[in-house]
Amino acid sequence: MKQVVTYSELRSRRRCAYRGHLEYDELLTPRRRKAGFREGTIADAGMNALYLHLRDTGGYDIDAMVNAMAAEKKREDERLRTAGLFDEEWQEIEDRWLLLLSLAVEYVAYARANDPFERIITCQLAGQVPVLTGEGRASTRYDFRFKLDGLVVIGGQLWLLENKWWKNWDRNNLKALQMDEQSGMYLWGFREAAQRHRLPRTIQGAVDTYGLPVGVYYNIVRKKLPVVPALNKDGTTTKRKDIDTTYDVFLSALEDRDQDPADYAEILDILREKGNTFYYREAIYRNETELADIGRRIYFATRYVADGFTFKSPAKECTWDCPFWSLCLEWSDELLEQHFDRKERKHEEYDEELEEAA
Ligand code: SF4
Repeated sequence: MKQVVTYSELRSRRRCAYRGHLEYDELLTPRRRKAGFREGTIADAGMNALYLHLRDTGGYDIDAMVNAMAAEKKREDERLRTAGLFDEEWQEIEDRWLLLLSLAVEYVAYARANDPFERIITCQLAGQVPVLTGEGRASTRYDFRFKLDGLVVIGGQLWLLENKWWKNWDRNNLKALQMDEQSGMYLWGFREAAQRHRLPRTIQGAVDTYGLPVGVYYNIVRKKLPVVPALNKDGTTTKRKDIDTTYDVFLSALEDRDQDPADYAEILDILREKGNTFYYREAIYRNETELADIGRRIYFATRYVADGFTFKSPAKECTWDCPFWSLCLEWSDELLEQHFDRKERKHEEYDEELEEAA
């Protein structure tokens, strides 16, 4: 039987073969003190529902998004019920949930005015293709598993859609999108699947109509609401230039307070100039050379598995980004027993089998 590899596994093995071995051969996972609230899963459920509804009806519907998020939140609550959370932790979860709901409402208004999609083909699509060997032959040992947030048409071309919910971003995060390896590998996988006619019929039909996808469309939402400007003691509105808000929110606060925008021309100009910093969108083309290189990288990474590499790659990041640090320093059965579990599945991020969502 062929072995399936995912981006997460390949990344782990390349970062440190020993870590990859512990995670994907030994199936070890650090035992969490407590289960955490998976707000990303809830946000993803909302996005999928919103865009599938748009595909099927042609309209944006906040209820479709919120209902899907509420159903997912219910599942989360059930999952966390046995986690022994304190009242303050439940309260924090409720606060984060309410923030997510508010973000969803804001997002739908933003998306309706700004989405460039001519068609939504699908949301959440998973697939599997053979890894290509150095000579370009289909590997008989390894398949690569990919999972897309969506497939959309922009400007008459097919694009992978990648939704992200980030706390914040800076120039470096955004610049790094150009080399985003995860989406690059998913794009490579999808194109291979299309060329091998391994996609569901409607998706294959979209490829026939629009051609292979040409890149990734990043749709990034900041997990923060624009600040409503404070009211000063003298009844005026603050003019702080570092206020984290948008032109529209500021103007609407002035209107609610019956204040003259002309008195706030400078701060309004600054906010207009800054644009909306709560959403970021960018379409990044990935050319054929780059994709061929990504395909080779997938193959080279599978050699770590094939050759059974388990060497350690210590680096200063080990102290903060490796959950196996203690075990790596000195293996002990006691430590293993107290702080680690064995996973039931190798690729838990793919534990939901996803087919064409429709
Ligand atoms: S602590 Fe560093 S060297 Fe050890 S397994 Fe983790 S990443 Fe590898």
